[in-house]
Order: sequence, then C-alpha cells, then structure tokens
Amino acid sequence: MVDLQAVLDSIYKELTPRIGEGKVADYIPELAKIDPHQFGMAVVTVDGKIYRAGDAGVPFSIQSISKVFMLTLALGKVGEGLWKRVGREPSGSAFNSIVQLEHEHGIPRNPFINAGAIAVTDVVMAGHAPREAIGELLRFVRYLADDESVTIDEKVARSETQTGYRNFALANFMRAYKNIDHPVEHVLGVYFHQCALSMSCEQLAKAGLFLAARGSNPMTGHSVVSPKRARRINALMLTCGHYDGSGDFAYHVGLPGKSGVGGGIFAVAPGVASIAAGSPGLNKVGNSQLAAVALEMLAARTGSPVFGG
Ligand code: GLN
Repeated sequence: MVDLQAVLDSIYKELTPRIGEGKVADYIPELAKIDPHQFGMAVVTVDGKIYRAGDAGVPFSIQSISKVFMLTLALGKVGEGLWKRVGREPSGSAFNSIVQLEHEHGIPRNPFINAGAIAVTDVVMAGHAPREAIGELLRFVRYLADDESVTIDEKVARSETQTGYRNFALANFMRAYKNIDHPVEHVLGVYFHQCALSMSCEQLAKAGLFLAARGSNPMTGHSVVSPKRARRINALMLTCGHYDGSGDFAYHVGLPGKSGVGGGIFAVAPGVASIAAGSPGLNKVGNSQLAAVALEMLAARTGSPVFGG
C-alpha cells in the first residue's frame, strides 16, 4: 500500500522551488491580483481519508472546474436530451474559441469549453430566475462537499461581468442559432457566478468524490448520480477537460480531470480517490502549470487506475 501522505509531502518538497511558475490569468482583472506563490494539493480516498499538502485549505477561484458541477445538474434535469444542445467531442481549440461555433451552427463541441458550458447553464436555468439558478448551484456544491462554508466571490463575478466580451460574443452567437433560450445577460450572470465559486483543494476534492465512487459520496452516503452517469462525466473530462491540452493531460497524467483559469485542476482516480491541485500560474493553453506537474508526479508514483498502473 502506497503511503499517500509521504507521496504528497515528497511532491510538495520537490516542487517548492518552482512555486510561482507560469502566468496568472490576467484577462479577468480580479484574478490578475492573485499571489502566484501558492501551491496546494488534496486527495480524498473512497474510504474517506483526506491527505493534504501545502495550501490545500486556501480557497481559490475554481472557474471552469464549475462546469463539471453544472453539467451534473443539467444531466439531472434533462438527461440525454442535453446532447441536442451540446456535443461530446474534444475541441482541439482554445477554451474561448468562437471559430468552431460558426462551422457547427451554434452547437458547441463539448460542455467544457466556454460556449458549451454557457449552453449547459442555459439548460439549468429553465424555469428559474438567475438568482435561483445561482442558489441551486451553490446549494448543490455545498451538499457535495458537505461544507456550508463554500461561497461565491462576488468581486470575481463582477470583474468578469465587466470584461467578459468574448463570452458575450459566444452567447450572442448561440442565441442567434437559438441554442440559448434566456436573455444573454441572465445566462452570463449565472455563468460568471458559477466560475466565481471559491473553494479550497480540500473542498473541491470532497465535492468531486462521487465521481471516483460510482456516483455516491462514501463520506456522506449521498447518492448523487448513477454509476453510469459518473462514468460518462469522467469520460468527458478525460477527453475534453483541458481544452486543447486534453490529449497532453491524458498522456502525462492519465486521469479524467478538469482545469480552471484560477489555477486549479480537479482529477479523478476512479474507484480510488478524487484529487485537487492548485497553483495560479498557467501554461500556454490556460491550465495550471504546477498543478499539472504535481498530478503527473502523483500518478507516476501511485499509478493510473484508468490506464493500468
Ligand atoms: N470564467 C472563465 C471564462 O469564461 C473560465 C475559463 C476557464 O477557467 N478556462 O473565461
């Protein structure tokens, strides 16, 4: 049996000299203010043990990792009907790309690029005012993490509302193709708030534990989705979770995962554990540089249950 705490401690020690690597996302002004010298990891195993290293308890902006939680909510609402609104193929292009959307008549490639996530948010909003949809997501994430202290950082949400021109372009484009039902400002209001969820690595790993444990959270006993749905969400994360860095992440880490421009990466070792790593400096495709290296080291030292060790 691998001593997980010893593995985390050794990774943290080896990567300490590299803390601060990469470039903090500065297209969202509020994120540009983040101190790049942070690095944390948390692992929660399916038998309920928690392992931590570095800044594992420090909340950060989860940004696109929220797309996994919104996707789970949307599938719960409309089931397989969701796939009329969004595809399931890797995009091979940037997270905020608009080019593909025109070629494909307003149907985004997958739920994890921005356009796809905005369409998913529109689905979750059905029958709700924006405020209610935000509340529903927040309650869901608190329930998943079994932690009422999870919050939304209003400053980050406001900052992106003021500067999210590309996301407005994507949403307007989809609305023109009738793939957005609600007013664009409302959908993006919800989308920017979901991205502004503030969570620590530990909270994130706990919230995503159901994906490592066939759809149920073994720590709380809550059944969240069916085993089949958990498997499918994991499949989407493996193929699409890191934009045009998805192939590279699968190659190096070999686990389903989802990144966010706040510097977090959430990953799932099916049947074993859920993992979160975070460090604000990003690589060229917008994924945390150090968190990706840390996850690669963790997988190399413990094995990938997806690809057989
Ligand atoms: N809120 C960010 C955006 O829409 C999320 C992007 C990300 O984390 N990759 O640009």
